[in-house]
Amino acid sequence: QAKKQGSNTYQAYSCSNDISSYKKLLLEKDMRKAIVNEEFQLYYQPQVEAATGSIQGAEALIRWRHSEWGMVPPNEFIPLAEENHLIHHISDWVIRKTCAQLRQWKDAGYPLKPISINLSPLRLLKRGLVELIKEQLTFYQIPAELLEIEITESSLLKNDISVLKTLEELRNLGIKIAIDDFGTGYASLNYLHEFEADILKIDQIFIQNITSANKKDAAIVSAVIHLAKEIGMRIVAEGVEEKEQYDFLKERNCDLIQGYYFSKPVPLADYEEMLCRGLSIPKGN
Ligand code: C2E
Ligand code: MG
Ligand code: MG
Ligand code: MG
Repeated sequence: QAKKQGSNTYQAYSCSNDISSYKKLLLEKDMRKAIVNEEFQLYYQPQVEAATGSIQGAEALIRWRHSEWGMVPPNEFIPLAEENHLIHHISDWVIRKTCAQLRQWKDAGYPLKPISINLSPLRLLKRGLVELIKEQLTFYQIPAELLEIEITESSLLKNDISVLKTLEELRNLGIKIAIDDFGTGYASLNYLHEFEADILKIDQIFIQNITSANKKDAAIVSAVIHLAKEIGMRIVAEGVEEKEQYDFLKERNCDLIQGYYFSKPVPLADYEEMLCRGLSIPKGN
């Protein structure tokens, strides 16, 4: 993994994670047409209740099906979109799409479970977010409880009073706020102290090694679950891939599980099938 751009402006080319500047240029050009051409799509990764294994909702994860490059992962194009400000269009598309989808499920008689969407810190800083969400919920007649917003700790890093105000307004509408990738930002505990969120998503990096001989990550995860419960937050474990990890989390009363053990992010039709079935049965069980 490459180091974050630091004091040195020269960026070495050795990093395989970096997309080439040529591809970057092409992607940026195409991104402008991608929304109109309907090249973006939402995939859904179920979140299951740890205690029962039943579906409690899903996280919507954006996909870009590019005519030449194939699937472009969000980790490649979201940072680009943040640079060229198209992130606002993309964010608003995700909000509209999600509300429309919830309405469709409602009309079709699917069990209504919340969907959580990811919002870039930049979108939180721009005006009109609360208005847009309010408008969409009203237009589609969707209860606010069905929409959750995931923010990373870097959103709060700005410590911008307007971000805190926006989040508070969203919460007042009844929308749940989740802190994504918890534990990977700076001064995590300070944010819990400054801002009241509803859900804590512990980053997959801590889940990876919870069952290893080295008990460090196990201790961290146990403590974070305990902490979340003490302050009345729901806790979601991300990146759960193995039964042993699931068992560990279930035993410690983690609320929700998200990860390949239950399901990868899947296209709409597959998620609808899971919603109908009500249960997401892990592979090999
Ligand atoms: P995230 O919000 O933390 O999403 C979780 C990521 O972990 C997803 O990657 C998901 O596919 C992956 N994941 C889930 N379970 C497992 C597992 O068991 N093992 C492993 N190894 N990975 C797992 P994805 O879909 O590639 O998304 C990456 C990131 O891109 C997201 O991280 C989020 O920060 C961003 N992103 C995705 N969709 C959107 C969007 O609509 N808007 C914005 N602003 N960002 C988005
Ligand atoms: Mg997320
Ligand atoms: Mg995450
Ligand atoms: Mg992440």
